[in-house]
Amino acid sequence: MTALHGLREAFSGRLLLDEDEKAPFLTDWRGRWRGQACAVVQPDTAQDVAGVLAWCHARNVPVVPQGGNTGLSGGAVPDGAGAAVLLSLTRLNRIRSVDPANHTLVAEAGCTLLQVQQAAEEAGRLFALSLAAEGSCTIGGNLATNAGGVQVLSFGNARELCLGLEVVTPDGELWNGLRGLRKDNTGYDLRDLFIGSEGTLGVITAAVLKLHPRPAGQVACFVAVPGPAAALQVLGHAQSRLGSALTACELVSHTCLQLVARHMPAVRLPLQDASPWYVLLEASDGRDENHAREAIESALEQALDDGSATDAAVSASLSQFEALWALRENISEAQAAEGKNIKHDIALPISRIPAFLAEADAALMQRFEGIRLVTFGHLGDGNLHYNLSPSPERTGAEHAAAFLAMEPAINRVVHDLVAAQGGSISAEHGLGVLRRDEAARYRSPIEQRLMAAIKQALDPKGLMNPGKLLA
Ligand code: FAD
Ligand code: ZN
Repeated sequence: MTALHGLREAFSGRLLLDEDEKAPFLTDWRGRWRGQACAVVQPDTAQDVAGVLAWCHARNVPVVPQGGNTGLSGGAVPDGAGAAVLLSLTRLNRIRSVDPANHTLVAEAGCTLLQVQQAAEEAGRLFALSLAAEGSCTIGGNLATNAGGVQVLSFGNARELCLGLEVVTPDGELWNGLRGLRKDNTGYDLRDLFIGSEGTLGVITAAVLKLHPRPAGQVACFVAVPGPAAALQVLGHAQSRLGSALTACELVSHTCLQLVARHMPAVRLPLQDASPWYVLLEASDGRDENHAREAIESALEQALDDGSATDAAVSASLSQFEALWALRENISEAQAAEGKNIKHDIALPISRIPAFLAEADAALMQRFEGIRLVTFGHLGDGNLHYNLSPSPERTGAEHAAAFLAMEPAINRVVHDLVAAQGGSISAEHGLGVLRRDEAARYRSPIEQRLMAAIKQALDPKGLMNPGKLLA
């Protein structure tokens, strides 16, 4: 405990040293990683964060920043050495200001995404980042992982929704980059350096977030399609008819829908006949719901005419809108309820998705026994959650272990095919420890060198979230 001497004095927030109190911070949301920390620190202000980082820097103590701890790549959990301080940001949870005329608000890093959405709504604006973990994940974590979600198609990912940052550097200095500017060419973009850096370059303490007008009406449409190529055709029709009013385009396989129906009995399937694939479209309109519906129905007409769509259900009320979205939003939970799974969060040029799926599906089914493809994702962003579950008849611990043992070999097949199609092995969940070495494998030597140089320049002691993102 002498090693922690002076930490209490270094900040005015809470300090947890008891093993039971620390425990919830030392394992991830899926229970996949477990680590140790000499202390968990819960600062209240950016100045407190600066105090903690200065203290750690002077004593060469590693720091692991943590927001809502909903990350899926093990980035917010320390290693097992017990040397690190776990820096929990959830008490930095104030909305500092709202500027409706500039379409911005300033939120502290520990605000939940939901809190930011609500603050925007109170100001008559929209904060257009939306993901299933929004009640727990923090805006700091969203920015540190450059999170995506379901509306990237029209509003971009977290990076595109952030105009400025406040950051504490690894040696404990506070950088105020809270500029609410849409144009600012005054040198290297430090903001963009910290976004997506997964806590390896500094700690985000606050952000200027970009707001949008709220849509007056929204309509969802669940479309049956014969295959991935047809799904792309439907996307094309929707894009040409709706333009920027197309705010989401999600892909769902029949297997995904079956899992949702099995594990969420309250969910009702909207179409009579089963189809191998489905597309969920969302239209948002500044005028009204009818206008959104007309545009989506016109795109649908084209798709039904050329056979890219075989059937469809369009929402006629808010509850139907939510019911159609529930089919997509419940997939992860349904897959988890089904048992162990192997996840891939991949990005591809949208045009290559059908070719990738044809190749990858065939290669996996041929080489691995007892697997089930659970494919869904953000079609409009070229981001697939290319997941696998054991076949339904393979239940029990033994089968689960055998299934998980195949993961490295399965990853090699999937990621090699992703790379061959010019894709990325990590689209929105970040690298953490889960994909760190895999990303290094597909990175060119020059990219590797430049990234190492940035890390060395900003964090020469290597204290910020060591072992995450970069080896
Ligand atoms: P954490 O998990 O606490 O941390 C994630 C990383 O960011 C770690 O490396 C951590 O060190 C770093 N970090 C956290 N806060 C800071 C900070 N203030 N400064 C510097 N570094 C920091 N992700 C998507 O992109 N799209 C989705 O659709 C999506 N859906 C999800 C659904 C569910 C049910 C769950 C559980 C997760 C989902 N995720 C999704 C993943 C996760 O929610 C996001 O990655 C989220 O952005 C993480 O935020 P967090 O606050 O929980 O961060
Ligand atoms: Zn996703």
